[in-house]
Amino acid sequence: MKTERDLIDKLNKEKNLTDMEFHALITDTHKQTTDYITALANSIRKEIFGNHIYIRGLIEVSNYCKKDCYYCGIRCSNTAVSRYRLSAGDILERCALGYNLGFRTFVLQGGEDAEFDDDTLCHLIHSIKEKYSDCAVTLSLGERSKDSYRKLFNAGADRYLLRHETADREHYGMLHPSFQSFDKRMHCLYTLKELGFQTGCGLMVGTPGQTPEMLVKDLRFIRKFNPEMVGIGPFLPASNTPFSNMTAGSVEMTLRLLSIVRIMLPEVLLPATTALCISNKSDYTRGIFAGSNVIMPNLTPTDARKKYLLYNGKAGIKDTTEDLLTSLKDNLNTIGCKVTVDRGDYRKRENNV
Ligand code: SAH
Ligand code: SF4
Repeated sequence: MKTERDLIDKLNKEKNLTDMEFHALITDTHKQTTDYITALANSIRKEIFGNHIYIRGLIEVSNYCKKDCYYCGIRCSNTAVSRYRLSAGDILERCALGYNLGFRTFVLQGGEDAEFDDDTLCHLIHSIKEKYSDCAVTLSLGERSKDSYRKLFNAGADRYLLRHETADREHYGMLHPSFQSFDKRMHCLYTLKELGFQTGCGLMVGTPGQTPEMLVKDLRFIRKFNPEMVGIGPFLPASNTPFSNMTAGSVEMTLRLLSIVRIMLPEVLLPATTALCISNKSDYTRGIFAGSNVIMPNLTPTDARKKYLLYNGKAGIKDTTEDLLTSLKDNLNTIGCKVTVDRGDYRKRENNV
């Protein structure tokens, strides 16, 4: 009979486990298991990235969305949302501020807003790249056609975040209306990778109906897809959505998955997400201890930020980006880490197994 330590050591050595072993690791809540896996994931993070934490300036460009994901506060059916869209000028202004603060990656995230068509986005990406040639542009704008993704890549976008949300087809059907397709989402991810984007998949932990077996499927998919980035955060209920009364996902389970992913894919770019900070706004440090190496402070203008509510209780709505960064630097300092002024691209180590 394998102990949990044996399992964690096996994961570290072989970068893989059987489904039953993944299941055992996910469901074991003993403190000694948590301590052991956390220490290992944290030491791998340090080995790969030293004490450097990459920061990304998150610009929430629009809360218009044509999709209707049941969990999301800005889904198109939510008529209580006051909708906004940033102009190219607004976005460039935030990049200027972000650049001065040391950001070298800008993440343009938003709902699926038809006004952000290919021409508009390509123009915007060109402008950002022209002014800040030493910066990376990450997009997180949902599902688009291959042709569109290609144009955005050719315009200079470097990375694309598109969480798969769940690797279980039936579960996907429980979280989304029937016009949204599991196959299409997965297809988009493979297309992004094929086009050359540093690609991020990911999931919410504790969405309604999620089981440990489904999480095993997520880990299996993440391993197979071998993404450059993985976004994992707890599901948090959002008002005026079908899931508004559902229970929030577990922060502990989120941390466990972060650690497993860090051990399985040592070089992966792994953000400690804002959703992790639901009960304490500096809880991203718990993500770092679990193996995360990326933080995405909010660079959206504050009046827009409070309208981009994917879930209730979003952290850092009121603080200026300057304040967010100052407290981030202080908090990282106390745990022996520091913010790095660097694009923070994905790098594969030569000698890695
Ligand atoms: N529209 C794009 C990007 C914005 S949404 C897209 O969907 O890909 C970014 C992520 O926020 C989603 O992938 C989802 O995983 C997360 N999200 C949405 N609603 C959430 C909620 N209620 N709790 C936690 N995360 C949520
Ligand atoms: Fe739109 Fe993304 Fe929210 Fe789904 S999760 S409704 S695609 S913003």
